[in-house]
Amino acid sequence: MNASSTEFVFQPLAPASLPIAGQEARFPVHRAFCVGRNYEAHAKEMGNEVDRSAPFYFMKSAHHIALAAGEQPIAARTDNYHYEVELVMAVGRGGRDIAEAEALDHVYAYAVGLDMTRRDLQANAKEKGRPWDTAKNVESSGLVSVLQPASAGFDPNQGEIGLEQNGRLAQKADLSEQVWRPAEIIADLSTYYCLQPGDLIFTGTPAAVGAVAPGDRLTGWIDGLARFDLTMV
Ligand code: MN
Repeated sequence: MNASSTEFVFQPLAPASLPIAGQEARFPVHRAFCVGRNYEAHAKEMGNEVDRSAPFYFMKSAHHIALAAGEQPIAARTDNYHYEVELVMAVGRGGRDIAEAEALDHVYAYAVGLDMTRRDLQANAKEKGRPWDTAKNVESSGLVSVLQPASAGFDPNQGEIGLEQNGRLAQKADLSEQVWRPAEIIADLSTYYCLQPGDLIFTGTPAAVGAVAPGDRLTGWIDGLARFDLTMV
């Protein structure tokens, strides 16, 4: 039985997808993995130590990913909805136990994104030893710029990453400050999951995360990638 002949009791959602610079076809999103504590200064501001023995991960649902543009909703049930600007990798070729030396060959495109977070719920979850889902896997919380194909030659190991809030510099760091380099993340993550084309990987945020208010304009960038510009409502 092929997909076109499958009958469903209701119409399934169309795949979540993101636009790609310079082409009509879109990138279909399968899963979104996020790395925690990948910049020392951010771990410190959260009151944590970086665990250098291994990165850790959490996830966002594919349909919680949206293009970082236009108006974006501030989530319900939080008094402290935070921005986290991050490098995002879009996997184009899957695999399990991917060697670090070949890891970046699996990246189809790069982008700059926001891992929006209910910080108050996350703090509560940490305190109680509960999962982070309601803090992190939030509708419209994975905001991603237009994807730039890796074939353009972007180096994910260096370059300025930054975020402005209402024209004020909010976050600024360099990708060289990442605790785990993008290739190491892919190699490690692929020992837990068989990576699939369509997977996104949010690689963690630098220091100086903060809360948004209605009407805030957020502008994010990574040197060599697309910029994004959006308004929180
Ligand atoms: Mn994050």
